[in-house]
Amino acid sequence: MTRKIDLHTHSTASDGSFSPKQLVRLAQEVGLAALALTDHDTVEGLAEAEQEAQKLQISFVPGVEISVKFEGPGHFHLLGYFIDYRHPALVETLTKLKEARACRNQLMLKKLQALGIDIQWEEVVAVSGGGEIGRPHLARILVKKGLVKDIDEAFEKYLAKGASAYVPKARLTPEEAFKVIHQAGGLTSLAHPYYLKLAPEELTAYIIHLKELGLDAIEAYYTDHSPEYTRFLLDLAQKLGLLVSGGSDFHGDNKPEIALGSGKGNLLVPEEVYLRLYEAWQKRR
Ligand SMILES: [Zn+2]
Ligand SMILES: [Zn+2]
Repeated sequence: MTRKIDLHTHSTASDGSFSPKQLVRLAQEVGLAALALTDHDTVEGLAEAEQEAQKLQISFVPGVEISVKFEGPGHFHLLGYFIDYRHPALVETLTKLKEARACRNQLMLKKLQALGIDIQWEEVVAVSGGGEIGRPHLARILVKKGLVKDIDEAFEKYLAKGASAYVPKARLTPEEAFKVIHQAGGLTSLAHPYYLKLAPEELTAYIIHLKELGLDAIEAYYTDHSPEYTRFLLDLAQKLGLLVSGGSDFHGDNKPEIALGSGKGNLLVPEEVYLRLYEAWQKRR
């Protein structure tokens, strides 16, 4: 039987609801052979997760998911795997992004207040559980106040790109993102290619361009990829000589419909995906 893995997850260090330690424990409970923690623009959960994974003897991949500048219709997230999360260049880059994010949250809060919503910074801090604050926390407050029926509506009405309280995120250029992950000794993978929202031919051309910039892999296996789309990406990766990665994008209670290791019930990332990435990383060192 193929053992399954999950190389795309979030903890309380970004916008997930499980602590890094709880996440590793859950990975063991659901029988994962390998787990990557890939919080948004932060490596703060990695030491805790790595320690717990050593204890429980799960293969652990220190990762990160960086939001990258993209002029197209969707959004571009870049995964870094096997990173040295103490590398000075990486730490410095992520610290700068964090400062920019703090400003962004305050700006969105001000926009919500300007829309007549009674919402205070202390409430946002309280629902964040002490971790990195982001839009899901604002969304949860809007739900709690009965202003919207669920998280999706909160994003649609207020927090999504183009919505009334949206403020764009500070982002690295693709060049900067590839460079910093490689400096930290990691491999790069294009997260959920589907969400670039490009037609197949455009996507192919864009991935060829990214490969020239330093892309190592694409996330072929993903919760919201249909079997046909996964097949298309697996073929594309093979054609272009890229590795593949895969994961659920687990966020715990902040995206309750997505389960660790199995997504919406349809996901199975084979262990072989981890082994190939690991091998490539070892060769690179
Ligand atoms: Zn993402
Ligand atoms: Zn993610």
